[in-house]
Amino acid sequence: MPPTGQDLAETTWDVVIVGAGPAGAATAITLAKFGQRVLLLEERTSPSFKLGESLPPTSIGLVKHFLGELDGPEQNLPGLFRTAGNVSLWASEQADIADFFFTLTGFGLCVERLAFDEALRSKAASAGAALLKGVRFESCMRLTDPLFNWQLTLRSEKQSERHRARYLVDCSGRRAVVARALGIPLVPNDDRLFAYAQWFSCAGEDDDRYTRVEAAPQGWWYSNRLPGAENKETRRLVVLHSDKDLPAAKMAARRQGFDQLLDDSMHIAPLLKARGYQASGEIRGAPANSQRLRDFVGDAWMAVGDAAQAYDPLSSQGMDKALRTGSHAGHMIHYALTDLAQGAAALDGGNTYIQQYDEQQRQLWHAYLKQRDFYYQAQPRWSDQPFWQRRRHADTPRAADPRKISQFH
Ligand SMILES: Cc1cc2nc3c(=O)[nH]c(=O)nc-3n(C[C@H](O)[C@H](O)[C@H](O)COP(=O)(O)OP(=O)(O)OC[C@H]3O[C@@H](n4cnc5c(N)ncnc54)[C@H](O)[C@@H]3O)c2cc1C
Repeated sequence: MPPTGQDLAETTWDVVIVGAGPAGAATAITLAKFGQRVLLLEERTSPSFKLGESLPPTSIGLVKHFLGELDGPEQNLPGLFRTAGNVSLWASEQADIADFFFTLTGFGLCVERLAFDEALRSKAASAGAALLKGVRFESCMRLTDPLFNWQLTLRSEKQSERHRARYLVDCSGRRAVVARALGIPLVPNDDRLFAYAQWFSCAGEDDDRYTRVEAAPQGWWYSNRLPGAENKETRRLVVLHSDKDLPAAKMAARRQGFDQLLDDSMHIAPLLKARGYQASGEIRGAPANSQRLRDFVGDAWMAVGDAAQAYDPLSSQGMDKALRTGSHAGHMIHYALTDLAQGAAALDGGNTYIQQYDEQQRQLWHAYLKQRDFYYQAQPRWSDQPFWQRRRHADTPRAADPRKISQFH
């Protein structure tokens, strides 16, 4: 039986996974269920916030796969509610509704994000992965040892540790710390999208179950009511996306500027006023640009989730992609390691299973770019504004109905 986080006599592993967000947890759950000896590392002990709380109807099966029935007796997921759809002012000033009622599940989910990630980590630990929190990946060195391909240096507040592993997985999010340590660059990209988030609270009730999306001259907004703990005030998140180099981004980083931009919104500001919401806490910023690594896999390592490719939040697909590709990665790594034990070829990009994963990543990236460009081009207003000018390329094919922003919010 693999050692637990509290009793780490062992320092050798089949797989070390760096980063315990949804991608890391999903990869760890999958591998640990196959009986692989997995170490899952997380540098943060108690983060104060995390952005990204909407899951579309197509993700419900995946969430149940990893966390169990949403309403079952063993469910320990503290904060979530069922969402009804998206209301968007995108292609015009008129509100369009993408109603989840007409989907197979009939609803999406809004989750309390810190609790959601923690629930996934607990599942990884109960599946048998050793979970180390407050431990940071620092560096790795390729070994010539026939059993172990990697020596890793990890650092906690108190000490530095050495671990050895057969396979290394980068699930560290947009920072992609393992890939970067291995010298893998990001594909050059001129997209500078940045998210500015402000939380609001009010004493009254808010039973809104729609994600609100609104295009603006300087970028676009979204707002969600957040799942609340019992006896706590009602909370809502409002996020503006703009390019970091534009004047609007500088404004949005400060309360006064953020309020000024928000006042011009057609839909979100009136909704906040009608329910008596007041801003609470600081404005938080986070990168929201599209980014990908040049290589998704290499010799005895791969990147999963945002570390491999991170999407514009307009897609609302980040958590789904993290869980789905985490499951795929876990399967492919297990098959590759099993094959290797039976004398098969190496663990690099030439391995059939690793190749399959690589191919999936490439296809996902192409599909994502096409969809992203389609939705931005479907917004015809403000052709004099740099934010929209940058997103208008003439050669992208037209596809679905641009008014119904569903998975792409
Ligand atoms: C504004 C905004 C809104 C979004 N909205 C949505 C949404 O509505 N729906 C949706 O599905 N997605 C949304 N997303 C995207 C979603 O949050 C991400 O895609 C998702 O978190 C990716 O999961 P991950 O596990 O790949 O990475 P992460 O969740 O980023 O996890 C990476 C983990 O690695 C850890 N780590 C980093 N470096 C190290 C190290 N050196 N050592 C150890 N650990 C390390 C980090 O602490 C972190 O916990 C949004 C994102 C933004 C910015």
